[in-house]
Amino acid sequence: MSGVSVQRAGKVQQITAVSNQRVKSIRALVMKKTREETGTFLAEGMKLVMDAFENGWSIKTLVYSSAFAETSETLKELAAKIRARGGDILEVNEKVLSSITRKDNPQMVIGVMEQQWGSVPADVKDPATVWVALDRVRDPGNLGTIIRTSDCAGVDGIILIGETTDPFSVEATRASMGSIFNVPLVKMTEQQFLSWRSGWKGLVVGTHLAGAVDYRSIDFKSQPVVLLMGNEQQGLPETLSSSCDKLALIPMAGSADSLNLAIATGVMLFHMGKRLPQMQETAL
Ligand code: SAM
Repeated sequence: MSGVSVQRAGKVQQITAVSNQRVKSIRALVMKKTREETGTFLAEGMKLVMDAFENGWSIKTLVYSSAFAETSETLKELAAKIRARGGDILEVNEKVLSSITRKDNPQMVIGVMEQQWGSVPADVKDPATVWVALDRVRDPGNLGTIIRTSDCAGVDGIILIGETTDPFSVEATRASMGSIFNVPLVKMTEQQFLSWRSGWKGLVVGTHLAGAVDYRSIDFKSQPVVLLMGNEQQGLPETLSSSCDKLALIPMAGSADSLNLAIATGVMLFHMGKRLPQMQETAL
């Protein structure tokens, strides 16, 4: 035995029947329960699948319209690379794609991906570090937008506390615009978060409508930060808010009670601006 493992190329299959068993099990991935049981999810569209591939995510099956493949060299190349890494290829018709995506005008390319979960660091020293912690986030559009915004702000990772919406749902992955493949996600119970937080050698800032501190007056620069955001309906519970070093308010004009969760997260992250590149200004 040489000890060198050889990657077996994936299989290629043509399917035209929506009743095909393989198509049925892919279609079942629109349900959270099936995603949890299989540890997989769907990425719809060429851009998402390419982002996943380029970030090294495991694509178990690539499904695409055979008619579209005839016109797209990029897709043919991507399919060859995925196959070489062991992923299977299903060439299908639009009827099959529609049945998987439940749409009349389906995406021409769908990836069946393996879920990836990260872990929180035990010890952080870099003052530029920022983790976002979301308490029981419910709306998949909000979660996807927060993942995208966190990616743009150079966040180190996102902690999902308690019962949350599934980041691997089609809605959340779509709203993340591919950023889900670039930001580590960690799942924790409230208890696990509080225990990890107790060892965090940095600042923990919660955002709260009853916050006592104007967010602009906080020194975010000199130490690592955990930014804790509350649930859309209920905000942060006392158990979490009392664990924060500071509770920040974003003062508002107008008559609305609060900002949307994803917007409030964006305001905080870009105000901190921890890992944003410096821009060279040019004359107009
Ligand atoms: N009814 C909820 C409440 O009473 O907290 C509103 C929650 S708000 C839609 C969702 C989360 O966004 C809040 O828990 C908080 O983390 C953040 N947030 C929204 N607007 C904010 C503001 N003006 N100042 C601080 N945090 C805010």
